[in-house]
Amino acid sequence: MKKTILFVVTLFLLFTPFQAHSQPPKVFIDSLEPSDPELKEQVKKITQVDKVLNSLIEDLREKYNSFDSNTDQETQKAIRTDLASLILLKVVLLRDLPYEQLEDLLNETYDLLPGEFPIEAIWGDVHFSKKDFENAIIHYENALNKNPNDINTIGKCAMAYFQKQNHEKALEYAELYLAKNPNEFFFLWIAGKCEYEQSNFDEAIDYLEKALEVCKDKNDSKTIEEYIRRAKEALASTGDFTQDEDQRFVITFAGDSANDIGDITFDMLNDIYYDVTNLLNYYPDVRINVVFFQTDDYYKEGKNWSAASTAGIKIMVPLKSGYKSEDYVKGLLAHEFTHAIINLKTNCRAPMWVHEGLAQYQEYSTENGSPESLRSDFEGTLQRDFIEGELFIPLDKVPAYIGSSDRKNVNRGYIASYLAIRCMADNYGEQSFDSLLAALGKGKDIREAVKEATGSEYSDFQEEYKEWVKNL
Ligand SMILES: [Zn+2]
Repeated sequence: MKKTILFVVTLFLLFTPFQAHSQPPKVFIDSLEPSDPELKEQVKKITQVDKVLNSLIEDLREKYNSFDSNTDQETQKAIRTDLASLILLKVVLLRDLPYEQLEDLLNETYDLLPGEFPIEAIWGDVHFSKKDFENAIIHYENALNKNPNDINTIGKCAMAYFQKQNHEKALEYAELYLAKNPNEFFFLWIAGKCEYEQSNFDEAIDYLEKALEVCKDKNDSKTIEEYIRRAKEALASTGDFTQDEDQRFVITFAGDSANDIGDITFDMLNDIYYDVTNLLNYYPDVRINVVFFQTDDYYKEGKNWSAASTAGIKIMVPLKSGYKSEDYVKGLLAHEFTHAIINLKTNCRAPMWVHEGLAQYQEYSTENGSPESLRSDFEGTLQRDFIEGELFIPLDKVPAYIGSSDRKNVNRGYIASYLAIRCMADNYGEQSFDSLLAALGKGKDIREAVKEATGSEYSDFQEEYKEWVKNL
């Protein structure tokens, strides 16, 4: 039987909202002052890592290593502070290097002054600037243990949790920030968006209207107005929805659909949860939202040619998309749930071929019992174009294919993504998915991530994949 609605898309979450227009808290503004007044003056003139800085550090290291039982506490503390201060300065000056090259220096400062505020704050900044939000949060929260009122760190926690789509925690920090600066646009927006994502539409509207009042940018205003409109619309139709939840999912059902599909949906989602979290080695600490829309409502939010979609951790499924069988629905939910887990594990940083490749790999396992048996209407194109015609689509071109208005090219984009992921599983095992996504989650780009997962350069991996398809 032919599927009436063919495609499953992912709407990528706006990665950093309003980056260009607003002024979120800044990174690398903290520093640790040397205790020696002369050194303090000297440090002010240092703008790069050079002989002067390195020899100052070496001298202090020597002094530190020659401590003995006669060295008094005060002198020890002063030397430790001076040394930590200079090493921290070196880290800040070298902040564009990969994290691994800065880690020893950061550990050294930690050994000198464990838990000191500027050390934890700058350590967090190093992770934050490399988009490794998970580790940034650990250090920012350590910094806040020492200095709970540091508004800049509070703001950065809100942003890091927001990027990780932990809307509950992001809101908590945004509210702390707003308690001190009630008119700060950026945090009014984050708070509004977090309330919106948690379906607290009244609260969302409150924050967003305040954000609109202080908004200075036309485009930002338009986006906010659109969110207010959607929140009001959702509020108006809340009466027609029922919500049900367990510890992993919050499911919203339109109309009386909960009666029809409520029970099987929870059973299916829990099976899928187990499969996908194991495959990708990621166990979310937030609940995934699934919304079943009546078709007309769905089209207001989603794209009108898709079977379902995922934005961040919110899965949207139209109810009239022609369910053929329970396996079909299960496959569709597996596909979308895979997108949600990828978004969480990578902070929405996975390229499209990784997203669609893994989502199909899981979909076919769930629906057809094996990742190797792809959907029947793709088989002709696979055989004709890829195997006989030796079509090769460079992976960076996949978004252009999937975004194409020509349905044949859309299919080709999906198939190429799926084949690349299957090739990776065949040559490097399914465990390579974990390394691939983990590297993206740490802020590595796709080239570095493929190298970590396979040991091959990105271009070499694509050559392997090209060869692999020939042998299908
Ligand atoms: Zn998809």
